[in-house]
Amino acid sequence: MNGKPDPRTTAEVVTRTRLERGRGALGPALELVHTGRAPTRAVLTAELGVTRATAGAVAAELEALGLIRVDPRPVAPAGSHGRPSHRLLVEEEGPVALAAQVHADGYRAALVGLGGRIVATTPGCEIVGADPAEVLDSVVAAGAGLLRETGRRCVGAGLAVPSAVAEPDGKALNPLYVAWPAGAPVRDIFARRVREAGLTGPAFTGNDVNLMALAEHRHGAGRGARHLLCVATGHRGVGGALVLDGRLHTGSSGLAMEVGHLTVNPEGRSCYCGSRGCLDVETDPYAFLLAAGRTPGPEESLLKQASDLIVRESADPAVRAATELLVDRLGFGLAGLVNILNPDRIILGALHRVLLGAAPERLRAVVADRSLWGRSGSVPILAAALDHNSLVGAAELAWQPVLDDPLVALGG
Ligand SMILES: [Zn+2]
Repeated sequence: MNGKPDPRTTAEVVTRTRLERGRGALGPALELVHTGRAPTRAVLTAELGVTRATAGAVAAELEALGLIRVDPRPVAPAGSHGRPSHRLLVEEEGPVALAAQVHADGYRAALVGLGGRIVATTPGCEIVGADPAEVLDSVVAAGAGLLRETGRRCVGAGLAVPSAVAEPDGKALNPLYVAWPAGAPVRDIFARRVREAGLTGPAFTGNDVNLMALAEHRHGAGRGARHLLCVATGHRGVGGALVLDGRLHTGSSGLAMEVGHLTVNPEGRSCYCGSRGCLDVETDPYAFLLAAGRTPGPEESLLKQASDLIVRESADPAVRAATELLVDRLGFGLAGLVNILNPDRIILGALHRVLLGAAPERLRAVVADRSLWGRSGSVPILAAALDHNSLVGAAELAWQPVLDDPLVALGG
């Protein structure tokens, strides 16, 4: 107290306090609308624990920033006698994040709005050579083309790669089935390409299965889980991820959850890690095709060949036997993870999702029989729900600064 009279009137103090409180609530409010947890202003008010006036001011500010839309037609909460409230929606014409994914068969670029909504996407077939700059050039150019076509504002860019990404230097330590050298500085290369393409906003890079887990937690089958385990196999190899209380668990240097090297068949195929019979080489699309006695062809991705076989030729005894073999091995691996991690939900992606669909009871039984916590609590095992979930997760990286502080990130 310096003894000077305070020139502010009571009304000014109240307005300023509401704005300051509202400013701190902008990010949390945006995240609630983004993840579908605040469909109305009444729910937003309750979730934020603020007054109706503050929630109204926060929603109006997010609408002014072009991020959400407040539907002025009040709707009553479904199936209840609660008070009608304005609906909150993400702004469909609002800004987007550029999302990029590199995989064994090439790349895919997309523009992703709030709510995990894919606005535009384009695939690219390309042999991924030893220099990461080549495919990253292609994918950034494809994304920049989508931005030109749509005229959308870009908040930033995110890249999903089939490798563990070391923190804090952003190097791809074990690129899976792409020819990049171990330790390739993919984050720096991607960021440089994004800047050179004249795109605004920061650029981020993460492991594809980690990003799948993040997307499923925010927008898909993982919503509401507190200890979410994801396991997936896309083209070659197997990845895992853990989302704890809404945040990715990446370990001390970004390398946690390298689940592909759990042994699930001690007599099995030798693995590039030096061991034998790893989940990585025993449950991926290539392993399935070999187990079913098929020769993988060059015309389609291994994932598509294996998935089509499981779905369309399930009456073939060799296909059925291969399905059961892989389901059992996947189950052994999941059981080990359940014992260690005690998740409250498991989500399976890509071929593992197809295997779950083909033999759900068998897979659940193997996990329950082989795990302490599986037997006692029966962990739900669900299929990934989103299309292109690694891309949506890559976009989440780019959206995060906006979710943390919309005014700063958008220069408001
Ligand atoms: Zn291995």
